Amino acid sequence: VGSGAAGLIAALSLTDVGIAPLVLERDKIPRGSTGLSSGMIPACGTNIQAQKGIEDSIELLTSDIVNKAKGQVNLELVDAICRTSGPTIDWLVDTHAIELTLVEGFVYPGHSRLRMHAPPSRQGIDLISNLTLAAEKTEIDILTEAHVKNLYREGNKIIGIGIERPDGSKEKIGCEVLILACNGFGGNQEMVKQYIPDMAKAIYFGHPGNQGDAINWGKILDAQMENLGSFQGHGSVAHPHGILITWALMTEGGIQVNSAGKRFTNEHEGYSEQAVRVIAQKQSSAWNIYDHRLHELGLEFEEYREANKLGAVKTASTIEELAGILHISPAGLVSTIKECEDFSSGKQKDVLQRDFTSKPPLQAPYYSIQVTGALFHTQGGLTVNGCAQVLQKNSEPFPNLLASGGAANGISGPADWGYLSGNGLLSAVTLGRIAGQTSARLVKH
Ligand SMILES: Cc1cc2nc3c(=O)[nH]c(=O)nc-3n(C[C@H](O)[C@H](O)[C@H](O)COP(=O)(O)OP(=O)(O)OC[C@H]3O[C@@H](n4cnc5c(N)ncnc54)[C@H](O)[C@@H]3O)c2cc1C
Repeated sequence: VGSGAAGLIAALSLTDVGIAPLVLERDKIPRGSTGLSSGMIPACGTNIQAQKGIEDSIELLTSDIVNKAKGQVNLELVDAICRTSGPTIDWLVDTHAIELTLVEGFVYPGHSRLRMHAPPSRQGIDLISNLTLAAEKTEIDILTEAHVKNLYREGNKIIGIGIERPDGSKEKIGCEVLILACNGFGGNQEMVKQYIPDMAKAIYFGHPGNQGDAINWGKILDAQMENLGSFQGHGSVAHPHGILITWALMTEGGIQVNSAGKRFTNEHEGYSEQAVRVIAQKQSSAWNIYDHRLHELGLEFEEYREANKLGAVKTASTIEELAGILHISPAGLVSTIKECEDFSSGKQKDVLQRDFTSKPPLQAPYYSIQVTGALFHTQGGLTVNGCAQVLQKNSEPFPNLLASGGAANGISGPADWGYLSGNGLLSAVTLGRIAGQTSARLVKH
């Protein structure tokens, strides 16, 4: 159920071993959140990394994920995902001609190696289009406009599903194995309010069709669920334009201030946890403050160029002038910039504990964008084992029910702070592959 990265990759894994899956998708065209993403997939030990001379390992990726989530992750799942990540990227590239390149230039926060693999355009739309093309080439049936409404079971075995078509007609389809790849509940405001109240008012940036169906079926089936309060947020969405502004502005030296011109967090802790913190400021807003060097870096990103074209980027030759344009406190901003210069030269230590010494201090002309926090996708879901099998309350797997991607419990701990960049597609792509392989074994058995 679902034709995002998780569903299509599971399906490709099945056709590889001669099993014909049926993919059910509620939309007219397969897109999902995968199509809205930047398409960045972390993986270790890939051929692409080897060609660039990058030494990476399962242990390193595992420890980066575990550290970011402060150890509050399912280690069996993290291990299975990390182990499968490299071979999955190689298989997608070599067997299914999915074009992926290594993202170079900067290491994403929390990652100890260059390991983001993405379409050359850095757009998830190309990832999903190529996956759909690969599915067509291998003659996978994708039934679109097929909204799965019900699961049918005998005991703890799933025997089929019920779909509804746009004209209201209904159909029942039997199954040997069912993979839930219909993501989380980001598109369901009531569920967001219930499980992630801090983000109830945030803009949702993901796919609206992700309504939490897997979780609701899990409740009916009495399945185990984990980390429903976990999510990926983003603390840098241009306001009111609603355009994602690259976090590289922060990692490479920029700062975020509030209307008093003051920093309110260590921006280097990560963009996900910054969403709630930005929303907690007056007007649910913050201002990214940076300089010409970082503006040039921003211009490498399509969305930044778009925001610039729409007038979101403001610039001025002095801090006071910039504060005036932004309608924020000039005195506050001047003293913040002065403090940051002192942090950068090592004269003072940042009380918010960010290390400023590795990047040059900001220099005139100065730049800014008003931003707010957004919800990208939820990370909690059905508890799965390392084979992507959904667990019952007694911790035994359901005999033929699997989950992957955003439908499964993630690897990002219980809240927003546990999300390591790329955990979303890492779970979708790699767990999708594992779900396909396990299903093949179950069907053959
Ligand atoms: C703006 C943005 C940028 C992002 N960038 C990145 C990134 O660079 N790297 C990264 O790792 N992650 C990123 N993410 C997160 C990433 O997109 C998701 O984690 C990932 O795409 C999830 O894949 P999926 O296959 O589980 O779900 P999806 O791609 O959302 O697919 C789920 C599919 O299921 C369908 N569906 C839902 N319910 C039903 C139903 N009842 N019946 C039939 N079909 C149904 C939906 O229509 C959808 O097509 C980003 C997210 C956003 C919003």
